[in-house]
This record gives sequence, C-alpha cells and structure tokens, in this order.
Amino acid sequence: MNIRIGQGIDVHAFEAGDHLMLCGVKVDFNQGFKAHSDGDVALHALADALLGAAGLGDIGHYFPDTDSAWKGADSADLLTTVVEHVAKAGWKTGNCDLTIVAQQPKLAPYIAAMKARVAALLDLPANAVNIKATTSEHLGFTGRKEGIAAFAVCLLQAI
Ligand code: MG
Repeated sequence: MNIRIGQGIDVHAFEAGDHLMLCGVKVDFNQGFKAHSDGDVALHALADALLGAAGLGDIGHYFPDTDSAWKGADSADLLTTVVEHVAKAGWKTGNCDLTIVAQQPKLAPYIAAMKARVAALLDLPANAVNIKATTSEHLGFTGRKEGIAAFAVCLLQAI
C-alpha cells in the first residue's frame, strides 16, 4: 500500500502568559499554554497524525515531558524532527487537515499565516494544508475557556 492515513489529538490548558503558539504562529492572547514545550496543540496533534500514519508511535515517545531537553521547546522544531523520522521510514505528507477548538481567542485573523507556516514545515503547497477553527458553543473545557483542543488528520504517500 502506498498511502497511509493518520490522526492526532492534543489538548493544553491555559495559564498565566501573554501569547499562544498555534501552528507555529504567535497568537496574541491574555494567557499562555501550560506545557513542557511551547504548548502548540495544533502542531502536537499534527505530529501525532504523521507518526500515527507512519506507524511510528507518538510524540511522547520522542520528546518525553520528563526530559529537560524539551523544556520550552519550539514545537516547530519538534515537528521538523518528526518529519525527518517519517521520511526515514519512507513516507512524505500528501495533505493534512487540522481543526482547532477554541472558545477564545478568535483565530480567523491567523489562519492564513498558520497555513503558510504548516505548509513550509511539511514542504507542501498551501492548498494541501487545511486549518479550521471552531468554538465548542460554550460546552466543555474549551467552552469554559480553560484551554484549547486540536485534531489533525493526514495522508502519507510512499516516497
Ligand atoms: Mg501537547
């Protein structure tokens, strides 16, 4: 089989801070992510989707939050490492689709920059990257503005 599908999910809570990193883009906000790395839920979900499709486990295996090496890590760097592992296993990304669930902040002004950043990180044309933002209609932890969830799917093609 020369294609593989993968999915990934991630959640991070808010804590004191002044910005969020989402899809490798700095988003102005009056809180930050509680996380060992920069807390970029969208790139973490995407990394898990890529690893899942390649049958390579999950990001916790490669970047354990018990390892101080990853403290404050730029998740774009983590994703780049994941892409290298996936390539070594014989796969390249065909397309990906991400959904970010956030009651706040409003992400519409950032979507174009997020698409461009993810496309660059995965070496894909922009039309092979889709990023959606939605609220959860005030329901659940995202609706209570306690944090953000992200969901990703991707297709890998054999190199
Ligand atoms: Mg995470």
